Amino acid sequence: MASSAPWRPVAPVTEFQSHHDLALAILAISLPVFAALLWITAPYGRHARAGWGPTMPARSGWILMESPAALFFAAVYCAGDRALYAVPLALLLLWEIHYFNRAFLYPLRMPAGGRDMPVALVTLAILFNVANAYINARWISHFGVYPIAWLGSPQFVLGALLFVCGTGINRRADAVLRALRAPGKPRYSIPDRGLYRRVSCPNYFGEMLAWSGWALATWSLAGLAFAVFTAANLVPRALAHHRWYRQTFPDYPAARRAVIPFLL
Ligand code: NDP
Repeated sequence: MASSAPWRPVAPVTEFQSHHDLALAILAISLPVFAALLWITAPYGRHARAGWGPTMPARSGWILMESPAALFFAAVYCAGDRALYAVPLALLLLWEIHYFNRAFLYPLRMPAGGRDMPVALVTLAILFNVANAYINARWISHFGVYPIAWLGSPQFVLGALLFVCGTGINRRADAVLRALRAPGKPRYSIPDRGLYRRVSCPNYFGEMLAWSGWALATWSLAGLAFAVFTAANLVPRALAHHRWYRQTFPDYPAARRAVIPFLL
């Protein structure tokens, strides 16, 4: 006799479903994160302040929080069924070019004597980077299906172009700031080279451009979630930097925008 029980076994949640949900969750938290960061500027660098618990040296903080984005991403990527296919390999190359710099070269080149950063912030960044590395790496080498012809698609070509330009702008901007922090110079001065003539934070502008390009090139929810989250994180910080520059330097160029040339 058929059971009349009001329950029936449900299908197990698949990894694909969980992956999709995690990407959606990152997308969904972007708006509250944006709103919160407009009120509370993340307490590191020039915005460092007491009251955020124990701190650690900035250089090791950067390596610790950004290395999962390079290493865990590579591990998840390698476990994918399509890890040896051409398009995933091209995407892997783009990602690792960016993150090898961010996780290892950038912190090692940081001038000594930077302000410490809160351990809590480093921990949050590690959690985000692990989740974000998983959704993006798993998508490109396992769940996403990219035929070789994808390399000639408008999405890939334009996306890769944006990624390379964005990463170039970001690195150049980082280098301008590094040169400002030379021994014997004041802790902060007005950057006036390259895109700094147009905006206070071309490094963040480049970063946002790069991850928008990634979203386009991967044409994925995971990529979109990361691009939106990056903007939610960096636009409020750029606005805070911009305000800080204006308050700190009375001669700060009035026409300079915060982060997007001519716009914002
Ligand atoms: P900042 O622009 O705040 O600082 C970068 C470095 O330059 C720091 O060492 C800072 O010193 C120094 N610096 C900044 N402005 C000046 C100045 N006017 N004069 C002298 N030195 C200066 O960037 P972040 O530290 O926030 O970020 C570093 C990199 O990481 C950027 O390329 C950014 O795009 C990237 N990033 C990416 C994120 C993402 O979501 N993908 C999130 C956060 C950062 P100090 O620290 O002492 O202020």
